Amino acid sequence: MLLISPVFVLADPDSLSLTSGVKLEVKPVEVIWNVNDSLYHVPAYDLYCGFNRKNIWGEKVDQTKKVDTTTIHILHDSCDFHSPWVGRLTSGYGWRHNRPHYGVDIKLQTGDSVRSVFDGMVRISRYSASYGNVVVVRHTNGLETLYAHLHKRVVKEGDEIFVGNILGLGGNSGRSYGSHLHFETRYLGEPINPLDIFNINDSTFEVKRDSLSLSSKSFNFLKEVRRIKHHRVRSGDSLWRISKRYGVSITKLCKLNGISRKKTLRIGQRIRYN
Ligand SMILES: [Zn+2]
Repeated sequence: MLLISPVFVLADPDSLSLTSGVKLEVKPVEVIWNVNDSLYHVPAYDLYCGFNRKNIWGEKVDQTKKVDTTTIHILHDSCDFHSPWVGRLTSGYGWRHNRPHYGVDIKLQTGDSVRSVFDGMVRISRYSASYGNVVVVRHTNGLETLYAHLHKRVVKEGDEIFVGNILGLGGNSGRSYGSHLHFETRYLGEPINPLDIFNINDSTFEVKRDSLSLSSKSFNFLKEVRRIKHHRVRSGDSLWRISKRYGVSITKLCKLNGISRKKTLRIGQRIRYN
């Protein structure tokens, strides 16, 4: 299986100096990349059975149904970690305006350097409408970290990253209001509260513990999010009608959806009712 673009290596560079004056046509030698190379070079390749470069979330394995407990080693030595950026914590993990927020927001100025927290490999480096310029790094222990709303990315997919390497410059791209870093931690495509792993406050960003135990409890917030039900607005619907249908007060519907009683509903709009 070809996973990462094959590397092209110039044929014996020393031969060029020996034959100065002679014009040589240098042909690249293709190095074939196979599964064993992937297992050796790509972090946690065996855990994920791949290195999905199509999807920001990657391959998801539902962790809310996890039956065992997995212990992940976070740190062997203090030099294994570097803070991505230290700044005012402006938003935490969890509900925000009735919507799930799967990361933490840290204030920065456009142009500030954003760094990788651990060694790893860049799985995603692209522009997305919501995340803006976003980088996802896969780490050896199976964790993935995501850095969003960057002004500029300076790494590309497949790049090997060392702890503290600059991934990009902070910014305000995508669905963002003011320059900040949106930082997420994920395991098998499912978000973990970064505060389960790190101490993050206005002046600190450090590793909280050397290892992390993950069970289905670690994904309780996700269970909550997945229990939410929505009604798809159809012709003739009103808040009153939806309220009667699901036995929920109009006040609660307004609160759950952050709308006023006078709000005109659009056909196709999703209205949360629990
Ligand atoms: Zn955010």
